[in-house]
Amino acid sequence: MLKVGIVGVSGRMGHNLIECAQGMDSIKVTCGIDRTVALPAGESLEVVGSVPELSALPDAFIDFSRPEATLGVLQAAVGHHLMMVIGTTGFDEAGKREINRAAHEIPIVMAANFSVGVNVLLALVRRTAEIMQDADLEIVEAHHRYKVDAPSGTALAMGEAAAKGRGVSLKDVMVAGRDGITGERPYGSIGFASVRGGDIVGDHTAMFCTDGERVELTHRASSRATFARGALRAALWLEGRKPGLYSMSDVLSLS
Ligand code: NAD
Repeated sequence: MLKVGIVGVSGRMGHNLIECAQGMDSIKVTCGIDRTVALPAGESLEVVGSVPELSALPDAFIDFSRPEATLGVLQAAVGHHLMMVIGTTGFDEAGKREINRAAHEIPIVMAANFSVGVNVLLALVRRTAEIMQDADLEIVEAHHRYKVDAPSGTALAMGEAAAKGRGVSLKDVMVAGRDGITGERPYGSIGFASVRGGDIVGDHTAMFCTDGERVELTHRASSRATFARGALRAALWLEGRKPGLYSMSDVLSLS
């Protein structure tokens, strides 16, 4: 049985992970890392603020927290040769580099979105961008009012997939957060728009617009359990893997 520790255990995803793992024989949540202790009713886990405070280490950490928490746990995971599943979004370039470096030492699955449906969507976005080279591509995402980063990690992953399909670099063509006199839309750009409100779990649409028609590819998540199940599946998949940075498409054999 795989023993996992949840980073961000007191948060929305942390609670979903605990609940989803309860129905599994192959995995056991043995501890949590969080700056606050707020567990689902009836749950009694060891929850501490940092890895050195744990009385016993897990085999793997599943992390849905904030970048600063992730990077702290990552260092400890490298030190103890533990596997890691990273779902947290919003890393800056230095943070991404740190994760890449750690992946030389330990196996890591990192995904902006752990749902199976979104990973199918990413493959479709890449292919459509490749076929509809001239279409204006706009990516629209909507999330609950508590989300702190924008565009969402999934929206950025859709942009990366489309850029790959077009053989360009996303950072060269990305336009996010339009406001005021923006001028005309640059040819070949990939636009991003973010909606925040209520309890929206996560909606993502890629709009490929040309003169006379448009194709829209949409995914809507209605429950966080879809991300939790994917992350637990990724943790099980990691067992016995060599160090490296893996994606959810590796886990699902979509690559
Ligand atoms: P949340 O705010 O409900 O939970 C985050 C938890 O992390 C909180 O309990 C908080 O106390 C804890 N935390 C924050 N900073 C910390 C620190 N420095 N040290 C220790 N603990 C700390 O958020 P959430 O909705 O559960 O989402 C968490 C992250 O997961 C976000 O980055 C979100 O974008 C991402 N997310 C990813 C996916 C995916 O499929 N990859 C799905 C959903 C959410």
